[in-house]
Amino acid sequence: MDLDKLLNKTELSKEEIVYLLELEKKEDIQKLFNKADEIRSKHCGDEVHLRGVIEFSNYCSQHCMYCGLREENFSIKRYRMTAEEIIETAKHISNLGIKTIVLQSGQDGYYDTDMISFIIYSIKQSTDVAISLSLGERGFDEYKAWKIAGADRYLLKQESTNPKLYSIYHCSQSLFERLNHIKYLKSIGFQIGSGNIIGLPLQTINDIADDIISLKEFDVDMAAIGPFIPSDFTPYQNKKPGSVELTLKSMAVTRLVLKNVHIPSTTALDTLDEFGREKGLSVGANVVMPNFTPHPYREQYIIYKNKRGVKDNPDAAYNKLQARIQTIGRKLSNTKGHSYKNSLTTH
Ligand code: SAH
Repeated sequence: MDLDKLLNKTELSKEEIVYLLELEKKEDIQKLFNKADEIRSKHCGDEVHLRGVIEFSNYCSQHCMYCGLREENFSIKRYRMTAEEIIETAKHISNLGIKTIVLQSGQDGYYDTDMISFIIYSIKQSTDVAISLSLGERGFDEYKAWKIAGADRYLLKQESTNPKLYSIYHCSQSLFERLNHIKYLKSIGFQIGSGNIIGLPLQTINDIADDIISLKEFDVDMAAIGPFIPSDFTPYQNKKPGSVELTLKSMAVTRLVLKNVHIPSTTALDTLDEFGREKGLSVGANVVMPNFTPHPYREQYIIYKNKRGVKDNPDAAYNKLQARIQTIGRKLSNTKGHSYKNSLTTH
């Protein structure tokens, strides 16, 4: 295949996606990265959007083989933040000028429909921010209630769209069910974030191509692609981490295929590579998600090991991150950074 021609095509077939993911020569990979950076600039501009994350509970009723929060992991100290703590942290993030708050947790039924609605409503009343929820699979009525309470976005990663692999990774959950939740969330007006993990055991390049095509078919507003990092006390604790290069190639191809979507440069990538954040931002990413989970909880949200920045004070970590973004010549956005697609959301 002629790489230059391929990179200028507006639509890519699965075969072409696989070809790009399999590029090996340094200069070819650099061409792919440059193209992704150009398309990011054309469709999203040069600003980096910020999402302040609050990981408010690490209790989880799921059993994902790769995740340190899985119910069977008795080695981590579990915590739940109170509604007041969550709302106060959200106000603090808003005071720093960040216009999106992500409320993330394990799948934790302790926070019932009304409690989450109360938290959303209270944050919306006292700040001018967009709210993303990342709470796992919950009831359809709950999604509706939270939309009405004021939540704007929902982040539910497809993780892997190979049904066989999905059932291996997730024991009790089904891919069909997960995708159904994503469809439903979209149908009631949420902006959708989804994505997948690169380098899970048994995964092939073919699977990654299918994952990218699935993100396109779901017409997601945000696509998060991060590397697998083994987590202690999980069945995959001794497996190899995902490759940084393959993660970067997957992010770049996702930008080529999806074009006008938000793509974060993830903390997982930054954990595996000293310059992960910068590298991600130069191959198609336009979003970063600074972690504002307060001490002592931030060290206990152990999805994977050695997560970068968990020992730092949240504000200091954020300052460092800001400086790194500015060093590579990118500006920080001071808007909510809503979806680039037509949506029901008011801007
Ligand atoms: N419980 C929620 C969200 C919390 S987990 C949910 O199910 O959606 C957030 C994300 O962390 C997951 O979607 C998964 O993609 C990622 N993750 C979990 N374990 C990981 C690991 N070991 N390496 C890399 N990413 C991981």
